[in-house]
Amino acid sequence: MSDATRVLVTGSAGRVGSRVARRLLESGHRVTGFDLRSSGIEHPAYREVLGGFDERSAAADAVGGVDAILHLGAFMSWLPADGDRLFRANVEGTRVLLEEAARVKPRRFVFASSGEVYPENVPDYQPIDENHPLKPRSAYGLTKLLGEELVRFFERSSGTPATILRFSHTQDATELLDPESFFSGPRFFLHPKIRQQEGFGNEAAVALLRQADEGREALVLSRNETGRPFQMHITDTRDMVEGILLALDHPAAAGQVYNLGATEPVDFAAALPRMAELTALPLKTIDLPGGGVFYRTSNARIRNELGYEPRWTFDRMIDEAVQARAKRAS
Ligand code: NAD
Repeated sequence: MSDATRVLVTGSAGRVGSRVARRLLESGHRVTGFDLRSSGIEHPAYREVLGGFDERSAAADAVGGVDAILHLGAFMSWLPADGDRLFRANVEGTRVLLEEAARVKPRRFVFASSGEVYPENVPDYQPIDENHPLKPRSAYGLTKLLGEELVRFFERSSGTPATILRFSHTQDATELLDPESFFSGPRFFLHPKIRQQEGFGNEAAVALLRQADEGREALVLSRNETGRPFQMHITDTRDMVEGILLALDHPAAAGQVYNLGATEPVDFAAALPRMAELTALPLKTIDLPGGGVFYRTSNARIRNELGYEPRWTFDRMIDEAVQARAKRAS
């Protein structure tokens, strides 16, 4: 990592941003955090700006004195009612931040995009690499693609090298067996999944899930309507942090786009029985309507060009998740 510099980390209260900020501080950097919420980080080299990315004065304040920017903050929602907020945070917010960034001419701008720009759930081919056509199906994925375009425009017009990282689905290991987790709750647990599908208005899925509900919490092995178990990448936040730090400092990353995530996808047919065994929760196998989730994304480019090597396999994450679950219960 380069010598002490001031790095702006947006989304500094978030899952990824807070860990990146702490890592940078540990290695002697000065850090400015920028988020709607406080990160709670207390460190003499840490400065925090609270506000929205689309608030001009907050963005101008945040970029002050920084020489690199990691734009990791975003609003994530798939609810139609959140559309206005989504575009304000992820598109307008990115535009305002980039305009302010252009004034300070950082040495590098790193942008957290998403595999939803492809999108992974309906790929043209697999494994999905960085040359896959970009055809998002969700408003969130569209905001990330528009963010990528804004970043490339900023790069061309300001001369600041930018790196786009298309993030895999990312979790703290401790979230995986927590029914309250924003992502892992509805992905793996029956009751949160019912609530999620009700929110999306997916009546057929709700009916199937309710049929399996015996009152007590259960894990769900999700399969598609033909019985194919879900498969997707779930990457540990710590491995994402390593990739982001490579994008910040590696000379070869300038101007590039990389898929960032675990090498192997998680096969739900193998993972869910293990999770059920370790938690002693009942397991419900449910064939949900539609094509389901089944993808494999290649991280070969970032491994070959930047030397990225993720270390947290899903099995390792689950072991940690079991400990965290036991701790929450005690
Ligand atoms: P997170 O939700 O934990 O953190 C995002 C942070 O951004 C939050 O602290 C939130 O307060 C802040 N934020 C949201 N809107 C804001 C606004 N308008 N102004 C200021 N701050 C705002 O998310 P994460 O898991 O740490 O994700 C980090 C990045 O990775 C995001 O850009 C996200 O879109 C992207 N991403 C995440 C995943 C995933 O599975 N977690 C997958 C693909 C891409």
